[in-house]
Amino acid sequence: MAFYESLGVSKRINAAAYYTALGGSIMSADVTAAMNDASKSFISMHDLQLKAGKKIAKLTKNEGAYITTGAGAAIALSILAFRTKGDINEIQRIIDGTAGPSEVIIQTGHRIPYDPAIRLAGSTIVTVGNAIQTFEYELESAINSKTTAIFYVAGAHLATPTLSLENVVSIALKYKVPVVVDAAAQLPPLSNLWHFTKECGADLVIFSGGKTLKGPASTGLILGKSAWIEAVRTNGAPFQRLARAFKVGKEEIAGIVTAVEQYVNLDHAAEFDGWERVINAWVNELSIIPKIKVLKEDLNEAGQPIPRVAIHFSSDIALEAVAALQELDPIVEVVHNFRNTIWLSADGLQKGEEKVVTEQVKKALAKLNL
Ligand SMILES: *Cc1c(COP(=O)(O)O)cnc(C)c1O
Repeated sequence: MAFYESLGVSKRINAAAYYTALGGSIMSADVTAAMNDASKSFISMHDLQLKAGKKIAKLTKNEGAYITTGAGAAIALSILAFRTKGDINEIQRIIDGTAGPSEVIIQTGHRIPYDPAIRLAGSTIVTVGNAIQTFEYELESAINSKTTAIFYVAGAHLATPTLSLENVVSIALKYKVPVVVDAAAQLPPLSNLWHFTKECGADLVIFSGGKTLKGPASTGLILGKSAWIEAVRTNGAPFQRLARAFKVGKEEIAGIVTAVEQYVNLDHAAEFDGWERVINAWVNELSIIPKIKVLKEDLNEAGQPIPRVAIHFSSDIALEAVAALQELDPIVEVVHNFRNTIWLSADGLQKGEEKVVTEQVKKALAKLNL
C-alpha cells in the first residue's frame, strides 16, 4: 500500500540517526507481525503490562521493567514514582496541588532537551556544577528535604569532568536519594541494558523503544528495582491517575517485547561489521573530492560505538550542504552542526540505499561548487 504517497508525504533516506522527527527506527517484520497479532484480541491491560514487564526484566537482567510511551514519558513517570513511592494518597495530593515541593537535581553538563519532562511530574529542576565540571560538594550541598531524585544522563558525548555515575550513586546512597539514568540512546553495547542498574547501582534506567531497539517509536522502557517499578505502575495507565495521559497500547507492548527479544538475540558483531563495510566504502568514495576532508569516527552522535563518516568543509557551509540535500529526490537526512561539518551513518539504512547516499551527497556538494 502506498500510504505515504497517498498523503503526498515524501520518504527519506536516513543517514542521520534514529530521530523521532524522522519516525524513529524501522521495525522488523517480526515486530510488526506481533503488533498485528496483538491487535486482534481484547486482554487485561494490567495483566499484559505486568507480564510483558516480567519478560523484559528477564531479557535485560533487571529486577523489574515497565513499558512507557517513549523515554520522554519514562522521565516523567520515574520522577512521579520517586515522588509518590506508589502511595495513592500522595498521588491524589499532586493531582489536588497540595503535595509538598519536589526538586530533581541534574549536573549542568547533563542538561538535555528532554529534561522538561521532569516538570511534567511537577518537580523543579535544580542544576549543580557548571557546563564543564561538577564537584562532589556541589552535589552534596544541593541535597535537602525537598530532593526527590538525581537525574543522570549517560553517554560519552557529554562533558566528561562531570561526576561519574558510581560517584553520584555513592553520594545518593549516603543521603537516601534515588538515582535515575537517562540512557535513551545508549545502545549498543547490549550490556548497557543492565550496566547502569546492576553494575553501577542506579535505581532506574530509561531507554527509548524507537531508537536502537527498533520497537515502535511510541515506546520506551523503565528498568530497575522492582519496588520503584511498582510505584511507576501505580501512577501509570490504565489507572486513571497522573500518567494516564501516557497510555501505551497493547500493540505497542507486543512490538517492544518482540523488539527487545530480537535485540538481545541479535548477532551484534555481524551488525557492526555491516556498518564498518559501508562506512569504509563511503570514506574511500568521498575522499576523492578535493575540497573536503573526510574522516571516519568510531562513535555516533549519542556517543555510542556505531561508526560514522564526518565531512569537514573549509568554511561554515554545513547548513547550505543540508539545504542542498533537502532539494534532491530522494532526500538524504544527515547530522550536521551549525558550522562546517556533516555526518553520515549507516545504521538507519534500508537495503540498497548506501549507493544513493553518496550519489546525493556528491550532487549536493557539486551544487556548492565542491
Ligand atoms: C531520544 C532521547 C529521549 C527521548 O526519547 P523518546 O523515546 O523519543 O521519548 C530522552 N533522552 C535522551 C537522552 C534521548 O536521546
